[in-house]
Amino acid sequence: MDITRLMDEVKDELIRWRRDLHQIPEQGNELPQTVAYVTGVLDSLGIEYKTNVGVNSSIVATITGTGAGNGKVIALRADMDALPVVEDTGLPFASTNGSMHACGHDGHTSILLATIKVLNSMKDQFGGTIKFLFQPGEEVSAGARPMVEGGVLKNPDVDCILGLHIGHLSDDSKPGTFSFRQGPMMASLDRFTLKVKGKGSHGAYPHQSKDTIVIASYIVTALQEIISREIEPAEPGVVTIGKFHAGTTYNVIPGEVEIEGTARAVTAETRAMLETRIGEIAESIAKAFRGSVEFKYFRGAPPLINDSEITAKAYESAKELFGEDRVLYMTKPVMGGEDFAEYLQEVPGTFIFFENPMAIDGVCYPHHNAKFAIDEDLLPSGVGLFVKAALDLLK
Ligand code: MN
Repeated sequence: MDITRLMDEVKDELIRWRRDLHQIPEQGNELPQTVAYVTGVLDSLGIEYKTNVGVNSSIVATITGTGAGNGKVIALRADMDALPVVEDTGLPFASTNGSMHACGHDGHTSILLATIKVLNSMKDQFGGTIKFLFQPGEEVSAGARPMVEGGVLKNPDVDCILGLHIGHLSDDSKPGTFSFRQGPMMASLDRFTLKVKGKGSHGAYPHQSKDTIVIASYIVTALQEIISREIEPAEPGVVTIGKFHAGTTYNVIPGEVEIEGTARAVTAETRAMLETRIGEIAESIAKAFRGSVEFKYFRGAPPLINDSEITAKAYESAKELFGEDRVLYMTKPVMGGEDFAEYLQEVPGTFIFFENPMAIDGVCYPHHNAKFAIDEDLLPSGVGLFVKAALDLLK
């Protein structure tokens, strides 16, 4: 079979699907237009699917091969949701509805549709089942977990899962490069809030206050010692405060301060340690200065941990199809997060980065930027990777 030829044949349609999806971006777990579009394509291809598996706006399509193979069940996943970003790319097919596919999920969805079209045309060449997961809610970590709980990996039971992320992922990798990593690849993405309580007073009489701005400032500074003094220096970890709301005017000490931040780790142990120590340190400091603190910790996606064997197999598939200079192993994880990690808690698999940035005004903008853009000419490579890796895993 000639995968490269099949990639070329599906290219125009793939780009058309991507542009259509780009113009109807929707957020979270309510994607009515997107679901109507994707199921419309699946209907036209004559593919079986289910919708609303565990969560609104999810779609699960299935193709079973009729040829020889090991009879395993492979899952391929694409996320479909967009972001609250007003597009500023100036592209002719730019979104105008106030949301934007600024993370490339329109590319992921159209790559998976094209993968279905190609694999459906060669059903007699593999033995086994391929499940295609179209997921909502990735950006808000609210899609993968309910799909898992809704049984998306069961009946038939999935043996392994692959996912892909496109865009401008690294300045170190050239466009067209697939990046792999065995073990931890991305971080948990947790959120925490700290409400610091003390006593307000006139700024001229601080002795009458329990100064919440001073307490909160010590807390912000002290939390960084978790990273510098408490986790092993070679182990990744992040504590970032992104929100600090305090006070109303220059000469009044406020009675309350609100802090919000994110904690990230690439192992379950470090993640648990961050959660415990942020609370203990904040509470101890507040107490030392006669105040108190209300600490809340919200777990998002867990660390994304790739299976070593599946990763090595997918790497070999990509290397065989695209050549050695288009594949690499990442030396370090990144501290961004992805709820693809939820599937990897249940079944082995691997997540793959595919570099396909497009410059706007001479600059390759990062994900979630209003000028984020992707190189459509490279999208068929994503199809080739999925097709080749799935076929190889079913051999
Ligand atoms: Mn994304």
